[in-house]
Amino acid sequence: MKKALLSLLIVLLAACSAQTTEKPNENEHAGKQMNEDQKQTEEEGEDEADTESNNDSNSEENTEDGKDEKESEPDPIQYTVHPANWTLKPQSESELQTVLLTIDDAPDKHALEMAQKLKDLNVPAIFFVNGHFMDTDEEKKIVKQIHELGFEIGNHTMTHSNLSKLSVDKQRYEIKQLSEEIRNVTGEAPKFFRAPFGVNTDFSKQLMDELQMIYMNWTYGYDWEKEYQTSESIADIMVNTPLLTNGAILLMHDRDWTNEALVDIVKGLESKGYTFVDPDQIVP
Ligand SMILES: [Zn+2]
Repeated sequence: MKKALLSLLIVLLAACSAQTTEKPNENEHAGKQMNEDQKQTEEEGEDEADTESNNDSNSEENTEDGKDEKESEPDPIQYTVHPANWTLKPQSESELQTVLLTIDDAPDKHALEMAQKLKDLNVPAIFFVNGHFMDTDEEKKIVKQIHELGFEIGNHTMTHSNLSKLSVDKQRYEIKQLSEEIRNVTGEAPKFFRAPFGVNTDFSKQLMDELQMIYMNWTYGYDWEKEYQTSESIADIMVNTPLLTNGAILLMHDRDWTNEALVDIVKGLESKGYTFVDPDQIVP
């Protein structure tokens, strides 16, 4: 418990201190993203009771549903992305405790291996890819293989730039060009978008509507923090963080330690009673 509180404190401190720095890597921006969320929460006047009331209502109904289904049958419930706190919200009552796995900055070194591990565990995920990680035939082949293993390929922009620092034309290029390239490789235009550093702009949001794409930040992630760059520490925090909640969107990266910890993370979440949302269940 002490450790959990300490972790929460670290996350909150990171969120505060990140405001003052401007280094272009995901570290800084996860904190930034949390601040943005808070801002958004205030702006939209949303409150957190939404997610809590879902928990309350979960235990009541639908016990008959799924009785005859095999355990591997997908959860038929649909979810929407809740932008006030970046969680998934079920569109009907569900007694399931679910999370969504997302893997960013792919395919760098381990994305295909991570996809194979998840496939063996029968766990779905979204791999958010970047243009600079799929500009060779070999890298394109990896994206295609991940897609063929059944995983969703998401758009994480061509060059991983902070969209708020780009002109509208450049933002459009960052997003549309990559969607086009993904479609050329997989035969399917991506349905999901994640802004680098979680920085969405008015224009990018408008473009999402135009392209009928769904954008999402994340509820939590740690693998870019110095203290979580070992497989043991990242496996522990991803499962034991106080931020783990029903509908949480988990952010991981194509990194050595996350790849090493991936099976333990999945098993840890399962042992806490969580199942994994299939991206197909996420609707606009
Ligand atoms: Zn990224």
